[in-house]
Amino acid sequence: MESPVKVLFLTSCVRGGGPGWSLFYLLKYLDRSAVDPTVVLPAAGVLAGRLESIQVRYRICPQLPERLYTLRFARAGRVRYLLSALWNFVDGCRAFVALVRFIRAEKFHLIYCNNMLVKAIGAFAGQVTGTPVILHCRNIHDSFLRRTLLVQIARLPAVRRVVCISQAAEGPYRFSGKTTVVPNGVDLSEYHPERVTGRLRAELGLGEEDIIVGYLGRIVPWKGLDVLIDAARIVLQQRRGVQFCIVGENPVGATRDLGAEYRQRAVGHGISDHVHFLGFREDVRPYLRDFNLLALPSKEPEPFGRVNIEAMAMGVPVIATAHGGPAEIIEDGVDSFLVPPKDPEALARKILWLISDLEACRAFGARARKKVCERFDAAKVAGRIEGVIGEATERRR
Ligand code: UDP
Repeated sequence: MESPVKVLFLTSCVRGGGPGWSLFYLLKYLDRSAVDPTVVLPAAGVLAGRLESIQVRYRICPQLPERLYTLRFARAGRVRYLLSALWNFVDGCRAFVALVRFIRAEKFHLIYCNNMLVKAIGAFAGQVTGTPVILHCRNIHDSFLRRTLLVQIARLPAVRRVVCISQAAEGPYRFSGKTTVVPNGVDLSEYHPERVTGRLRAELGLGEEDIIVGYLGRIVPWKGLDVLIDAARIVLQQRRGVQFCIVGENPVGATRDLGAEYRQRAVGHGISDHVHFLGFREDVRPYLRDFNLLALPSKEPEPFGRVNIEAMAMGVPVIATAHGGPAEIIEDGVDSFLVPPKDPEALARKILWLISDLEACRAFGARARKKVCERFDAAKVAGRIEGVIGEATERRR
């Protein structure tokens, strides 16, 4: 029997997030007799703790940058962007040297680049060490420069396969002939409505009769939380007793406190007693369990939107915007709903329609779970990635 493929997984995620959790569940379900994983990440944190729980080795490389423009200086005016980019670039070079040494010492068969800037560092490390590389593309790149750079990186001979989380994310890489679209997966036993006890209603002192419209995710401008707060005002003019619960916070290192701005927006609309900002939660399931529906009002296309499949797995129907990943996940009006982006009236109308019949709302939730079981089961997704690893290392299973 062949020995397992030694794979180095590179990621810049520390606290989870879409790419971090998707990697975690991939590692949880990979067949360890086929793949022997080691993860390199920049710091210990939520993700490292979870890796320990599934006995996956990891190594910390503090120089591994997430983005070139991640801010490193609190002050220094506009020049801080340039200084940060320089600092991150130098760190990236140091991470590259450390990785090359590590790859040579451990004799990895494959480098698997999970996200962001690690794709560039890992691809060049593969090129220098003669190690095959898989890029996992989890973004839609709006900047021409970044897109061009990443497409050139995908062209490197060391890069054998490019896994894209959706057709929307595949766009610029399609030409390479190396792409495979594999959606993110959700753990159907962990995300199971009958195995999770709700915590949100108890935390907020709400009863079963209160209707909860949830938002889950980072608070960043393009996710459209402002659209949801504007929609909330319209909903509450017609129906009191609806609560809007926001789980998530500003991203780590954010320079703008958008959460505070949105709180102020709710105050300005006179609805702050119906809009609850809960902050970051490590385990989101007890919150999803208490949502009647999830709103994901992204103004720009989501590359995938992991929160869609997490909510749907918990039997919670989603109202998302009709572009990017959600448009590939959701069958509108069957298992969840799509509305036009940047349109609070359309979102409010859909929320009001859905909560007007809670029995029907639950039926949509049941269909949503069924859809996720069929298409986004983490165990099946891991099987598909194993196949791609086999192709990239020329070990066909
Ligand atoms: N998430 C979390 N705690 C929070 C808010 C979000 O763990 O307080 C997780 C959420 O469950 C999901 C991920 O962060 O797994 C967000 O992934 P998605 O693809 O929706 O968005 P991204 O942040 O990658 O754009």
